[in-house]
Amino acid sequence: MTPEAGPYAGQDRFTARKALVARLEAEGLLVGVEDHEHAVGQCERCSTVVEPLLSTQWFVRIDPLAKRALQAVADDHTRFAPENWTRTYNEWMTNIHDWCISRQLWWGHRIPAWYCDACGKLHVAEEAPDACICGGALRQDTDVLDTWFSSGLWPFSTLGWPDETADLARYYPTSLLITAHDIIFIWVARMMMLGIKFAGDVPFRQVYITSLVRDAHGRKMSKSKGNVVDPLEVMGEIGADAFRFTLAALASPGMDISLSEGRLRAYRQFINKIWNASRFVLMHVPDTLSERPAPPPPERLDVIHRWMLHRVSDLAAEIDDALTRFRFDVAADRLYHVFWHEYADWYIELVKPELQAGGAERERAVAVLLEVHDRLLRLLHPFIPFVTEEVWQVLPPRAGDGAAPPENGRTITLSAFPAPVETWKDVDAVATMGLLQEVVTAVRTVRSEWGVPPARKIEVLVHGADAATAATLRGHAGHVTRLAGVARLDVAAEAPRAEPDTVRRVVRGFEVHVPLAGIVDRRKEADRVARELARLTKQRGGLQARLANPAFLERADPDVVRDTREQEAEAGRRQEKLERILAELGS
Ligand SMILES: [Zn+2]
Ligand SMILES: [Zn+2]
Repeated sequence: MTPEAGPYAGQDRFTARKALVARLEAEGLLVGVEDHEHAVGQCERCSTVVEPLLSTQWFVRIDPLAKRALQAVADDHTRFAPENWTRTYNEWMTNIHDWCISRQLWWGHRIPAWYCDACGKLHVAEEAPDACICGGALRQDTDVLDTWFSSGLWPFSTLGWPDETADLARYYPTSLLITAHDIIFIWVARMMMLGIKFAGDVPFRQVYITSLVRDAHGRKMSKSKGNVVDPLEVMGEIGADAFRFTLAALASPGMDISLSEGRLRAYRQFINKIWNASRFVLMHVPDTLSERPAPPPPERLDVIHRWMLHRVSDLAAEIDDALTRFRFDVAADRLYHVFWHEYADWYIELVKPELQAGGAERERAVAVLLEVHDRLLRLLHPFIPFVTEEVWQVLPPRAGDGAAPPENGRTITLSAFPAPVETWKDVDAVATMGLLQEVVTAVRTVRSEWGVPPARKIEVLVHGADAATAATLRGHAGHVTRLAGVARLDVAAEAPRAEPDTVRRVVRGFEVHVPLAGIVDRRKEADRVARELARLTKQRGGLQARLANPAFLERADPDVVRDTREQEAEAGRRQEKLERILAELGS
């Protein structure tokens, strides 16, 4: 109890309570004692009942600081991304109160205030004064600064401030702060105010606010809901690279991240894809190659190489642009698509014959393959640090690339981030590859829809193409035949004679004919598709019945209802496709 409690001063509150009741009773003033339930403040750590106590504290007058910090953002000296967080910042800073900065804790920056017990004078100073002007001894205030006050000094106090150090000159203000939205006020705003006040400028030029990670159904993770995902567990299961890539891929600006297991698994597959492609590349690097050769000039290269070099050069520009805009999701999506669906699916398949050839042809192919692989790894590195480093270290090096102090070896982290290469720009190669890909895809679709055995070679006739297209197809027929399992590709001006069991597809206004007589038993194939269709129709009927049942819709877990709807829609799409194939087979 404080001195204001008179005779009870110095007593523990519980002792004082009993003493007070005893005195009331002794004086005959006590009417009765009964229990009441009421809300009592408790310590969040040890649950001890907290008693309010008025005390003197140190405050920072905030208005002058807040005004300048608001103005700095208004003047674009610091920008928030996504931009909408500027409003949150402005709201906080406009409705701000004076800041109580003293804390009664053991650890922290001590309040720079000294008391003289002799004359009662208070000294506030940057340096500890030796003695009071009256000659009396001084004792420093025992309070420490609020943690967030000390954290607010972080951008410059870590760089040697208040000395004018080289670090301070080089790194203050810094370019970018990445943080979460729940500390925009308690940390970001404090750094802004204190930075402008003490270091004379804003502490950072941009503030990127990350998304919150939620569960697969978009619910906030909480212990009581039991939907907390432990990142260490996820990393143990699918790897740190896959986890990091997933978070980047799902980080759409202003949207929270729904951490779905499906996406995690899909991106784990992607890491495997990178690993396998890397093994393929390393398998084809001759042991004698101690340095990564420069790729030959484009005019000496086949269209597949010119196309791939163009794509990887373009990709560098796209990734740079996406990262500049903090679109980690866009960057991850582009990397995924180009690596998997252009480089691995097409380029690596197309380059195989050249790698198996010998001499100059093979040398050229190895040079381009290594160049492209190296660049893709470096573009992927910020998203997939471990696997890319592992692979990059064993690629044949190029002098000076990624050099570290000799005792540390080379590292991809110190290699230059790829930039676009002007001389690799080749829109003709892109157009040619686009055409070849469409023809290959059309033939592959026919093969799968008509059930052509994978190893069976087929013939393909192209007809009705203009002269330039026909010339391109003839010139690159080898690529089409290899990738589509075609024995012979004929490009004819005349319409071919109508043969039975010939499938026709239209690609870019010309016709692709695939004669399948003697290769596919049309009736047997139609039966197979009809059976599959019947099975699917039944399955879809079951799903529709469930969805038509009001009891199911009301009582089932909303996630289950949603999944059922998705399954039904997917079954519908497949049903339509099978009906189309069956109609063709039956015609
Ligand atoms: Zn406590
Ligand atoms: Zn004094």
